[in-house]
Amino acid sequence: MKRYMKAIRQVVPYVPGDQPDFPDMIKLNTNENPYPPAPAVQETLRQTRAELLRLYPDPTAHQLNAAIAKAYHVDESQVFTGVGSDDVLAMIFLTFFNSDLPVFFPDITYAFYPVWCDLFRIPYEIKPLAEDFSIVPEDYLAENGGIVFPNPNAPTGIAMPLSEIEDILRHNPESLVVVDEAYVDFGGESALPLLNEYENLMVVQTFSKSRSMAGARIAFAIGSPALIHALHDVKYSFNSYTINRASLAAGAASVADDAYLKETTAKVIATRERTKKELAEMGFCFPDSMSNFLFVTHSECDAKALFEALREAHIFVRWFDAPRIRNYLRITIGTDEQMDALFAFLKNYLKYA
Ligand code: PMP
Repeated sequence: MKRYMKAIRQVVPYVPGDQPDFPDMIKLNTNENPYPPAPAVQETLRQTRAELLRLYPDPTAHQLNAAIAKAYHVDESQVFTGVGSDDVLAMIFLTFFNSDLPVFFPDITYAFYPVWCDLFRIPYEIKPLAEDFSIVPEDYLAENGGIVFPNPNAPTGIAMPLSEIEDILRHNPESLVVVDEAYVDFGGESALPLLNEYENLMVVQTFSKSRSMAGARIAFAIGSPALIHALHDVKYSFNSYTINRASLAAGAASVADDAYLKETTAKVIATRERTKKELAEMGFCFPDSMSNFLFVTHSECDAKALFEALREAHIFVRWFDAPRIRNYLRITIGTDEQMDALFAFLKNYLKYA
């Protein structure tokens, strides 16, 4: 084998959810929001002139960062933005998980964490969830090179109480604790208030779910100015112009409309609670999700077979070929009409299961 072939960086990539494109499909597989972005986002994009694309975007993302700082009552020096939380988290891993000690995260969680560890050659240790799929805070008290977990966790949807997050922070004064709050707006409790007391905390949120802007690729981290400064140093050593001009403007418009965020997340939450009742009546079991998806299993049917039958009917959900969760499906909460179509399919399917 040639030397250049031997030198290729070997990685097993993260597999993102499918993006099928059928006019009649019901797409419940990648936790997108079924409602459109805030009206001001649509207006901003309408006014965006193609001529603007001739110029590079602002590398400091000032317009967007200032809007986020205002909305979340922090200083702009505490805000870092990137191209979705995948970009923000990758920068965090690269910047802060840089010791010989293992980074801790749960066994059932966002499947990108081990991929970044492998890519950046970061040692890690996986901490199994409890039998009921909750995170065990005591597992995160040993010496480590950093801690990361989503809250609510994905794909379980289980939210961790702030008191337990505080416990992890208090016992880890030498470690950075990253709370990935991709789904927090659907009923979780944000760790942002803990920033005043814990400088070792970094909170990550995204515009992809609650703000209905997965296609714009915008997310942010909030932490102490020193940590955010370190993140910027790494970003500028990698790719200075990350968020494009249209997304910078559209993101700022979205953040300014808190009422719309509350209105649309309340609708998703109401549909989620109705979905819990319907699925429980059909015999499905699931953890009590505080996110925009349910993680369901049924004692009388095989999850993979159901996943495939749903796909045939152009109803797309997510199935993970991973230990402990092979008999589960993750179902994103769509509109009431979309969920009604899902219920009708499932009732019929279970008759013959
Ligand atoms: N964290 C978690 C827990 C997620 O489920 C996702 C969505 N796949 C992400 C981060 C990344 O989302 P995005 O890059 O769209 O912000």
